[in-house]
Amino acid sequence: MIGKTVRELLQQDVFSREDIVRLLFSDGDDRQQLFLKAREVKLREVGDKVYFRGLIEYSNVCSKNCFYCGIRKSNKKVSRYTLTDKEVLAAAAFAHAEKFGSIVIQSGEVSSETHIARIERLILAIKELSHGELGITLSLGEQTHETYSRWFSAGAHRYLLRIETSDKNLYQELHPSDHRFDVRLSCLHFLKQIGYQVGTGVMIGLPFQTVEHLADDLLFMQHFDVDMVGMGPYIEHADTPLFQCNNLSWDLQQRFSMSLKMVAILRLLMKDINIAATTALQAIDPLGREKAIDAGANIVMPNITPGKYRNDYLLYENKPCVDEEPDQCLGCLDARLSLVNSKIGYGEWGDSHHFSLRKNTKDG
Ligand code: SAH
Ligand code: SF4
Repeated sequence: MIGKTVRELLQQDVFSREDIVRLLFSDGDDRQQLFLKAREVKLREVGDKVYFRGLIEYSNVCSKNCFYCGIRKSNKKVSRYTLTDKEVLAAAAFAHAEKFGSIVIQSGEVSSETHIARIERLILAIKELSHGELGITLSLGEQTHETYSRWFSAGAHRYLLRIETSDKNLYQELHPSDHRFDVRLSCLHFLKQIGYQVGTGVMIGLPFQTVEHLADDLLFMQHFDVDMVGMGPYIEHADTPLFQCNNLSWDLQQRFSMSLKMVAILRLLMKDINIAATTALQAIDPLGREKAIDAGANIVMPNITPGKYRNDYLLYENKPCVDEEPDQCLGCLDARLSLVNSKIGYGEWGDSHHFSLRKNTKDG
């Protein structure tokens, strides 16, 4: 029997693993149809606004050794930094003044009490300086249930923790043996139990990764019922162990194209979630984020880290905007987003519609 065409698949509302694999292989006009459909679904379900999350790269100190990441603990070439309280608060005040609805505080993984307490204090201070107006997303890695609860009580309400890949064996290939897939997964469960809007994501085009793995990643996000997703291409970094396997990765353009298709298919699978147009896309194509918005994404994370630290937060190579100061980023984003006819949700949190529905169903 001949399989369904992409056009036929795009009429469906429910997608099997096989359908997703077929869509991930689409190209040419079929791929264009996929993007158009995803855009249509986005406009209908979550509207045409793009929401900003000002990204503060709080620290590159990390206790982990993920094989793909440029700031892994064992990379001795990295000059380590942690922002001062003053710098974090100034960045948050900038985001508030510019009417970004929210900020994201991201860093390497640290679990000392000093770190936990400091983040807690910063969350409280940011809430105060913005009169409760700035939404706060955290992306601070794996922590205990207690730590996540403390930060939630202080006022953080969203958390991003990528599963990186939903395939347990591939996960173990990409990490040292003491980095456990099960721990990562239980962290995601903790976050959900506590009441965070939960975001996850994967890297696309990793060595050893197949299109079937990617289809399973999308199904994982659907089954876990996440509220937000940030996913983008894997980009090599020369000072990491995974660099040795580079000949096993797809070329950058393929990773880019696959990432856009992942965004579009996810929009068809999970119509009302928030999907980020990630910075790694822009490292491959200067208009990468705008293209992702056109293919179904609705969140952008402009970097508002003080310029002098940006060269030290290199998770991967060719990271864009490392020589810019926050105010330069703003002008450039505004101009570019207008290219794809999006409106910006100034001063709005832009919470995931999916989360509100999930909460209401649970509470009601
Ligand atoms: N330490 C935290 C947050 C910072 S890392 C954590 O790991 O959750 C944020 C994300 O950067 C990771 O989840 C990973 O998906 C991404 N990343 C790391 N190295 C990368 C690379 N070489 N290419 C693309 N993305 C990468
Ligand atoms: Fe640390 Fe996150 Fe990089 Fe892993 S991906 S080494 S946890 S910063």
